[in-house]
Amino acid sequence: MSIKSNIKLVNDSLLPSCRLIAVSKTKPNEQLMEAYEAGQRLFGENKVQELEAKYQALPKDIEWHMIGHLQTNKVKYIAPFVSLIHSVDSVKLLEEINKQGKKINRVIPCLLQVYIAKEETKFGLDEQEVLELVQLFPSHFTHVSIQGLMGMATHTDNPDQIRAEFKSLKNLFDRIALLPLPSSIVMKELSMGMSSDYTIAMEEGSTLVRIGSTIFGERNYATQP
Ligand SMILES: *Cc1c(COP(=O)(O)O)cnc(C)c1O
Repeated sequence: MSIKSNIKLVNDSLLPSCRLIAVSKTKPNEQLMEAYEAGQRLFGENKVQELEAKYQALPKDIEWHMIGHLQTNKVKYIAPFVSLIHSVDSVKLLEEINKQGKKINRVIPCLLQVYIAKEETKFGLDEQEVLELVQLFPSHFTHVSIQGLMGMATHTDNPDQIRAEFKSLKNLFDRIALLPLPSSIVMKELSMGMSSDYTIAMEEGSTLVRIGSTIFGERNYATQP
């Protein structure tokens, strides 16, 4: 199968409420261009250096999404162009994004990454931390715009567990949306679902699915520097 036909297949399987982010990490620019030529404009990367290099090299109407863990000292490199940072997992990181946004007079769109998996290795805020942050949102955060939540389910073959985790994230999303919120928080995006679980995620209310291997094939990390 070609990348072009994979893009079409995935798009045909999406609910109308859901948009596709093509996760192109580790893949060469030529493969991103194949997806681009098939009409794909939203791309997701998880490393700052790679994201920046691809942004420089590829057409300027691409929307770049940062989906991986972000270190505070690297925010400045993507602040000018990133369309959405999915992976805000601490107030300290949000503080830095706000600072960099202020410097360049840009309000930077962000999602709060919530820890929903029953695994030790996943980054994210827990439910209490998210509720606290949105209810006591610092008024000096003038250059970040919180647009919703992101989460990753446990890597498991058990679809019931995956569904329960996505349900809990959607439930949190809905509860926050009912709160009195400052204008810098608008609950409109729920980023959940990857190649193995995006069908379940869509059924549970995802608005952004992040799909890599189904489009570009398996990643080979061994060949990466
Ligand atoms: C790599 C990655 C994806 C895509 O994973 P696939 O299984 O290849 O679809 C989605 N979200 C995040 C945060 C990732 O790092």
